[in-house]
Amino acid sequence: MTTTPLLYLLMGLLFGTTLLALGIALGFWMGKKQTTSLDQPLVEQQIVAALRNMATWTNDFAGDFTRYQSTMQSLTRDAADSKKVRTKEEVQSILDKIVQANSELQSRLDSAEVKLESQTKQLAGYLTEARTDGLTGLSNRKAFDQKMDECYTKWQQSKQPFSLALVDIDHFKKVNDNYGHPAGDIVLQEMSKQLKEISNETIMVARYGGEEFGLIFDGDVTHAATVMEKLRISVAAKTIQAEGQTIKITISSGVARILKEERIGKLVRRSDEALYSAKKGGRNRVFIHNGMLCEMFGKPGPSINATESHEALTVETPPTSNELEHRVLSRLDRLITQEADRKD
Ligand code: GH3
Ligand code: MG
Ligand code: MG
Repeated sequence: MTTTPLLYLLMGLLFGTTLLALGIALGFWMGKKQTTSLDQPLVEQQIVAALRNMATWTNDFAGDFTRYQSTMQSLTRDAADSKKVRTKEEVQSILDKIVQANSELQSRLDSAEVKLESQTKQLAGYLTEARTDGLTGLSNRKAFDQKMDECYTKWQQSKQPFSLALVDIDHFKKVNDNYGHPAGDIVLQEMSKQLKEISNETIMVARYGGEEFGLIFDGDVTHAATVMEKLRISVAAKTIQAEGQTIKITISSGVARILKEERIGKLVRRSDEALYSAKKGGRNRVFIHNGMLCEMFGKPGPSINATESHEALTVETPPTSNELEHRVLSRLDRLITQEADRKD
């Protein structure tokens, strides 16, 4: 056998064995996940379907590979059999068959590689989707909890501290009431854009739920509180255009750092207490829980109460008919929501 066919054989053996192992593992896993149900999230169903697909074609490939191996074995046996191979032509014919089997396997390998790459990309996309909040594009609560677990493990192993900040939009219910739910959604998206701008490899941002966001910071609480105070000031200074209306919001934040002998649940509770203190202290401010008590960080923003918050700013240009239509629809939407809330 020449070097090239031998190389193909080895490559094929390696790739085929890997796919076979992958097929067996997927098959085993899929066996456990035989059914998808209606209450299973769509992305999870997509992941299961993609894995099932992969399991099918890796099994097909494993079948092709087994056939290739037995062809090669029989050709090798023929080549060693002096009764079967006597003339130059007979040697040539065996060599031709080996080359043909190798080239068939090579083309199967090529298409398997292409398929594997595209399926891997598809799976990676689904996995990202499973960890992303649909409305804001931020990481979702699941991804956030996972990150907290990772930070906690690091903290236990190497005492590398981390801090948690909870952020809540002040009187957000009023935004929905005054401007409509769709406008509220746009506010959440705009808020998320500002949060994305501060996220980096040492700050993870996620939608914690509703109009609440969570941030995990590598490092101490002062750094986290400084970033949050900057964000608070910048949010209060900004105006948001939504559904032809100009909206202003403020945020409150509670920050705490992981402490010795503390579990994650306690850290979350302390951050939540700090957030509650910020709300009780007038909103539009950042509070730290220092392990003993909650104290304000930075300067207090003007206190925000429910009646004066989110007052519509005067829109100077007269509204276009499109904007008017939007406003009427928003108003209708608000009335419907209010009516539904009242019935609840
Ligand atoms: P506080 O300052 O005390 O936080 O008051 P709040 O009004 O922000 O808090 P509350 O918990 O009373 O109301 C939160 C509101 O957020 C109620 C809910 O309808 C709204 N909300 C939650 N998720 C969404 C969403 O995805 N889109 C929109 N538009 N509104 C949402
Ligand atoms: Mg709120
Ligand atoms: Mg809230």
